[in-house]
Amino acid sequence: MHGLIFAIEKFAIHDGPGIRTVVFFKGCPLRCLWCHNPESQCRQPEVLFSPEKCIGCGWCLQACPEKCHLLGTEGEHKFEREHCRQCGLCARECYAGALEVAGKQYTVAEVIAIVMQDKVFYDHSGGGITLSGGEPMEQFPFALALLQAARKQGLHTCLETCGQAPYRNFRQLLPLVDLFLYDYKATDPEMHREFTGVNNELILTNLRQLDRDGAKIILRCPLVPGINDDSGHLAGIASIANSLRHIQQIDLEPYHPLGRGKCQRLGREYPLALDEFTTEERISGWLAALQSQTAVPVQRS
Ligand code: SF4
Ligand code: SF4
Repeated sequence: MHGLIFAIEKFAIHDGPGIRTVVFFKGCPLRCLWCHNPESQCRQPEVLFSPEKCIGCGWCLQACPEKCHLLGTEGEHKFEREHCRQCGLCARECYAGALEVAGKQYTVAEVIAIVMQDKVFYDHSGGGITLSGGEPMEQFPFALALLQAARKQGLHTCLETCGQAPYRNFRQLLPLVDLFLYDYKATDPEMHREFTGVNNELILTNLRQLDRDGAKIILRCPLVPGINDDSGHLAGIASIANSLRHIQQIDLEPYHPLGRGKCQRLGREYPLALDEFTTEERISGWLAALQSQTAVPVQRS
């Protein structure tokens, strides 16, 4: 069995307790306007192109069977994606690093071997492995097998999820996941659909059922100035947190615009006009608003 993974990040400290290795799955059922990892969304490998790194050697032209790469007389590089079949041959030849492929097939054993390289750090910090994405539940058989293998190794396990998956799959993972990092993006169902492409009905049903079934949960709340940081949603976060018996904390995830550059490298439009990082003043306001409405610990991540 193989999983399509777009990154394995070591020494992560914001995706669960302690020092962790985060395995990023490719594929997501949502299309959040502010997505920080747009290369995670599609279920296929994708080519990212950074024109500023291109040295005009022309090796990709020779490698590409579909003739997607063109070099002009002034050395300008045109990447015509319409016929690209994501084979990755061009990126393999690009020693300048201008072309990269997001998405590589791994076996469970390959991922576990990489994760176990840092076992000593997990043991000393209370860390472990985190499955993230994208959405790990989109590749459920691989996520299940990876978590089973992590259990055999005695690793602490976290699953970061948007919640848009059948509950029968979450149920199977209950004995294998120590902590769910569960996204909560908008309280109003229509706003949720506008911001992410789906309403939040299934997501909320799953969240409540996980809580009833005893899962430990951290609520992860991306907040985007002027988009979903209204007082109604902040009250909604507090309300849902107050209703969960097994919630550990609320993590606020302030918007940053780093998804824009990745979208450009993928040849896509970035859907938001926001170019600035969220100010400290705004984040402090969010924290204060939430802390006044809930006793659940709130922190920014
Ligand atoms: S192989 Fe890389 S550096 Fe060479 S022309 Fe193609 S993109 Fe540019
Ligand atoms: S991924 Fe394959 S088809 Fe696409 S541009 Fe590169 S070599 Fe051509």
